[in-house]
Amino acid sequence: MTDFPTIKVYVSLGSNIGDTDDNLNEAVARLEKYEGIDPEIWSETYLTEPQGLKDQAWFTNQIVRFAVDPELWSPHGFLSTLQAVEGQMQRVKKEINGPRIIDLDLILFGDEIVDGGDYLTVPHSRAKERAFVLCPLAEIDPELVFPDGSKVAELLSKINYRIEDKKIYQD
Ligand code: AMP
Repeated sequence: MTDFPTIKVYVSLGSNIGDTDDNLNEAVARLEKYEGIDPEIWSETYLTEPQGLKDQAWFTNQIVRFAVDPELWSPHGFLSTLQAVEGQMQRVKKEINGPRIIDLDLILFGDEIVDGGDYLTVPHSRAKERAFVLCPLAEIDPELVFPDGSKVAELLSKINYRIEDKKIYQD
């Protein structure tokens, strides 16, 4: 339970090595230990076709919405914490778009817009093109609107993907 005014922070979690459901749960449990970061809604998990490098296991993806205390956390501070948790859990070297125990992306941080280029862009620069981000977002918050006014349902209608039994196909 939270007893402070919070903002809604959406994190995309992904894993395709080991027990992927366990890995996602472990990441949330590690984030929850920080003061002012409380998980409040979990999407279902989705199985997602790998993008880029095809010769690897499908990913398990999920969106978790956190209630975050804005007095304690900025987007940059929050990203550092996501990276710290990735570092705590990652036991193999990462390839771009390659297999990983855990990948944590900051999708939305309240209504904030951050244009920090490669280091930090919020909303996440590829969120609007990725079905594995938009499908679970729409599941937990169907009326969600990005800071630029785009609606999650409209964004989903603009991309090419297929979903069957929580399996997402997208090249
Ligand atoms: P990846 O491992 O593919 O998720 O990429 C991580 C890199 O993306 C790091 O260098 C981050 O600094 C950068 N990055 C930029 N914007 C974001 C964001 N919104 N969430 C997570 N990482 C980001």
